[in-house]
Formats: sequence, structure tokens, C-alpha cells
Amino acid sequence: MRTLITGGAGFIGSHLCDRFLAEGHEVIAVDNFITGTPENITHLLGNPKFKLIGHDISNPLKVKEKIDNILHFASPASPVDYLEHPIPTLKVGALGTHVTLGLAKAHGARYLLASTSEVYGDPLEHPQTESYWGNVNPVGVRGVYDEAKRFAEAITMAYHRVHNVSTHIVRIFNTYGERMRLKDGRVLPNFMYQALVGEPITVYGDGKQTRSFQYVSDLVEGVFKLLFTDDPNPVNIGNPAEITILEFAEEVKKLAGAESQIVFRPLPQDDPKVRQPDITRARKLLGWEPKVGRAEGLKRTMDYFRTKVQR
Ligand code: NAD
Ligand code: UDP
Repeated sequence: MRTLITGGAGFIGSHLCDRFLAEGHEVIAVDNFITGTPENITHLLGNPKFKLIGHDISNPLKVKEKIDNILHFASPASPVDYLEHPIPTLKVGALGTHVTLGLAKAHGARYLLASTSEVYGDPLEHPQTESYWGNVNPVGVRGVYDEAKRFAEAITMAYHRVHNVSTHIVRIFNTYGERMRLKDGRVLPNFMYQALVGEPITVYGDGKQTRSFQYVSDLVEGVFKLLFTDDPNPVNIGNPAEITILEFAEEVKKLAGAESQIVFRPLPQDDPKVRQPDITRARKLLGWEPKVGRAEGLKRTMDYFRTKVQR
């Protein structure tokens, strides 16, 4: 089998490349490095089953080799990144999804879209089930990401209904692990960097907002299982262990053995107040369950960031 992964040089995309290669697939990664780095895949460059195409997937792409599976993971994902690149974010969610669906249709390939818990916006239902339609501000600063992903879900379902493409939609909740960029601006790299270098840990707002953090290997397992089902409807993949951001700051500080102060900074616009996946559907459909708890996942990720800080 040959699997094409957009965003393959990103944090999650590079772990997917590793997994599909380990399953014996040939892998084609497509990336324009807007937020990813070649460093994430240098270990794969000598592998004859791996190929990298430098390309902006918001523009059409022709691939000569027969493709069996397409995973569309290209998109800035950190709020800091998508606020810095609002138009490329809208384009890759809209045009990039159209291009990759067209490719899937042409090749008769299975298709999987990386969607997000952000489709639920600042949710009024808690925890979030897939049947909840969300509370998104379309004209707020985060709208460029949230609405692009909502459009992406809509066009994916349309390609399923109209063209009978075998599509899949994963709604990913906050995922972390090795190969996140140290300074991508998301809460975990920020806190880990700050704790490791002894800078103040910046909690936005009063820190009472919650998130539920999932370790990357659990996500990869869920994605792999979902791709080979015949169910086109969205599936939440996340770890339901919910924590406030202030508690999270304390947890990271303790793990690093840091002296850092915890300081409070203004809450960004439209920052969701709560977020926790209801994973009943993933459990039933995939027999999937997160396996790596925060204690273990944070330790592994901290070890990785230590090597980055020391350089
Ligand atoms: P990332 O920024 O590390 O990876 C994204 C990759 O996509 C990068 O390598 C980037 O260069 C590439 N890319 C972006 N636009 C592109 C374009 N137009 N053409 C080609 N390549 C392009 O982010 P990530 O955390 O690995 O996220 C990957 C995917 O998972 C994204 O689609 C994101 O929306 C989704 N997701 C991630 C999380 C999370 O917590 N990490 C949560 C929900 C959804
Ligand atoms: N956050 C924080 N300090 C930081 C970075 C983020 O308190 O240095 C908060 C942010 O306001 C949000 C949560 O942590 O409430 C998660 O933010 P992140 O950027 O990781 O992604 P989000 O879950 O909002 O998409």
C-alpha cells in the first residue's frame, strides 16, 4: 500500500509517517514547511519506501504512483501559528482539502481528514460529543482555523455523498509529544521551555480554563484504526483526563524541578473555557482507548525538550 500524508514534516504528520512505514506502507509526505521542519523526518530520508514532496497542498498536485490512502494533516495548528498565517490557514483547510479529496477520488484512495476539537469552538456542551454542532465565532481571530476545518468537514462529507469516496474525519483534541516545536506558542511547549530555562510560566487569564491532553502515540493508533473502518462520520480522538491550565502549569513546573514563578497574562480572544472529549464513539467503533497517561507522556516529552534546550 502507498499512503500520502500531507503535513508529513509536522509534529503529528512525522509520527504518522513513522507508523505507516512500520506497517510496511510506502509513504509520500507532502509539506511546504510553513510550520514543520525537515528535522522531523531526516531519519526517514534514506528509507527507499519514503519520499518527500516539497509542495503547498493548497495548489493542485498530480502524483504518478498509485495512492491507496491519503491523510490530510497539513495546516498550521498552534493558535500563534494560525494567527500569524491566517490566509494560508484558510487556504489549506479549504483549498488543500479540495485538492486532496480530488486526488483521493482520482486514485480511488481511502481518505482521512485531520479535523479538530476547535469545530466545537467555545463549547456550550461538556464534554463534547460528535453530535454537538459547536459555538464558533466566524469573524473572531480563531475563525480562520475553526471555520476552515468546519468547511473541510463539509466538503469531505460532500465527496463521500456525491463521489462515494471512502472518507474519514478525526476530531483531534489537544495532542502533545516529541517533535513539537519548542516555540510553537502552544501551552505545553511554552510551559516546558519556561520551566526548563527558569523563565516565568505564563498562564493566560485566571488559568481556570481546562484542556484534556493526549499523548501522540494514542492519537496515531486511533487514526490508524479509523482509516480502515467504513464509517465517514466524525470521531473524537483525545484523552478525557481534563485539567485546568493553572494546575497544568504547576504539574510541568514540578516535573522540571523548576524555580520558575507562575505569572498571569491576558486571555486571548475567544479562548475556549472548557474542552474534554466524549470518546464513547471511538471506544465502540474502534475499540480504542488512550493508553499513555499525562505522568508518562509529559516525562517523555520533557526529556525531548531538554535535549532541545541544551543545544
Ligand atoms: P504542525 O504545525 O506541527 O504540522 C502541520 C504541518 O503541515 C507542518 O509540517 C506544515 O509545514 C504543514 N503545512 C501547513 N500548511 C501546508 C500547506 N499548505 N502545504 C503543505 N504543508 C503544509 O501541527 P500539528 O500539531 O502536527 O497538526 C497537524 C494536523 O493536526 C493539523 O491539521 C491540525 O489542525 C490537526 N490537529 C492538531 C492538534 C494538536 O493538538 N496537535 C489538535 C487538533 C487538530
Ligand atoms: N495558554 C497559557 N499560556 C501559554 C500558552 C497557552 O495559559 O503560554 C493557555 C491558552 O490560553 C489556552 C490553553 O493554554 O487556554 C491551551 O492553549 P494552546 O495554545 O495550547 O491551544 P488551544 O487548546 O487553545 O487550541
